[in-house]
Amino acid sequence: MGNSLYPPKPFSLWEKEVYAKAADVLIVGAGITGLATACSLLTKKPGLRVKIVDSTIAPAGASTRNAGFACFGTIGELLDDMQNRSEQEVWGLVEQRWEGLKLLTSLIPPAQLFYEQKGGGEVFLEDEPWEKACDYIPVANRFMKEITGQDEVFQKDTVNGLKTIRCSVEGMLHSGHMIELLEQRALVMGAGIRRGYAVTHVEAGAVEVAGIGKLHADKIVLATNGYTRLLDDQLPIDPARGYVLVTTPQKSRPWEGTFHYDRGYVYFRSLNHNRLLIGGCRNLDPKTEATTQTGINPVVKNGVLNLLKDALLPEWDGGIEQEWTGIMGFGPDKLPVIEEVKPGVLLAAGLSGMGVALGSLIGRKVADKILGSRTVSV
Ligand SMILES: Cc1cc2nc3c(=O)[nH]c(=O)nc-3n(C[C@H](O)[C@H](O)[C@H](O)COP(=O)(O)OP(=O)(O)OC[C@H]3O[C@@H](n4cnc5c(N)ncnc54)[C@H](O)[C@@H]3O)c2cc1C
Repeated sequence: MGNSLYPPKPFSLWEKEVYAKAADVLIVGAGITGLATACSLLTKKPGLRVKIVDSTIAPAGASTRNAGFACFGTIGELLDDMQNRSEQEVWGLVEQRWEGLKLLTSLIPPAQLFYEQKGGGEVFLEDEPWEKACDYIPVANRFMKEITGQDEVFQKDTVNGLKTIRCSVEGMLHSGHMIELLEQRALVMGAGIRRGYAVTHVEAGAVEVAGIGKLHADKIVLATNGYTRLLDDQLPIDPARGYVLVTTPQKSRPWEGTFHYDRGYVYFRSLNHNRLLIGGCRNLDPKTEATTQTGINPVVKNGVLNLLKDALLPEWDGGIEQEWTGIMGFGPDKLPVIEEVKPGVLLAAGLSGMGVALGSLIGRKVADKILGSRTVSV
């Protein structure tokens, strides 16, 4: 493999003087968290030497492999979260997601993200969770009014004959454009982005990159999401694989907007050309899905197929245009972690299934932690 283009070779003198130059902040991971962190750092302190490294040439984690929901949590999911956390904590996280989305759309104009607030809903196939969720609608609407300023965000409805709680403020976007534009923005602001750099070890002040050697920085940010434990098994982020399927174009478009089922474990949304994107069902085999490996689990896929055929899209002709998996990262109690794990090394990971909404806010919080909460000019 001596003449191959990959993996990278040790630096030449010229490369060393440019690529290996010590950074002020080195970010491992060029997903939404890493890129948003770079943008926030450079907004606060233009001229800061920020470097982002990522092991993949094409994205591998979650940021471009998700479902493109700009969502905050459905009543069924939030009630489920309240089994482990207080009501205030759960709504606190909803508020952060809302703030995060506002921040994202201030970094990248909504039209360029293909962001559309079509509204969405949560579908119920069983009576008991439906009744519990309906009972909670007035409380949820009070919290949502405080967070969004909007009235009656959640409302009972029937969609395609299925009991549904509609959510008027949910949106969708194009995750590929989101990451491409964030990357462009980070570059224009002065960040250096290096792909194909797999970090194998992290210590205070330096990371080891496979095939290259050490890169030095005053501060290091691990925005490594579901892959975090591959770097250090003691770090508190668990991987979880997510499955997504896109149908072939159908004769009509029965679902318009973003929808959820079963406490958020299943999610589906409309796509152009009458296609439906659906993902989830990892809860059918959680042990196998706690992995960083790609690959499709037949138990999970069958769960999705059965739901489509039996309930959501009975007219479906069975055509699948595309399917893929991505890797999420979960912090303790589904909460994101921003924590100094070694001197000068910050972990920013565990955005669970809501990173589109949360990522920009996490980036800003990391920048505040590194630079202080006031803007500094050079
Ligand atoms: C199937 C699926 C559907 C989802 N749907 C939605 C949704 O609709 N809405 C929503 O809000 N969220 C959704 N999510 C979650 C969301 O995508 C994530 O929360 C978010 O993308 C996390 O961003 P991140 O930057 O923290 O991590 P990632 O995007 O995973 O980025 C981490 C990066 O770190 C790099 N990396 C890791 N280890 C190393 C290393 N050692 N050296 C170098 N580089 C390294 C990886 O290559 C990767 O590019 C979904 C996730 C999946 C998997």
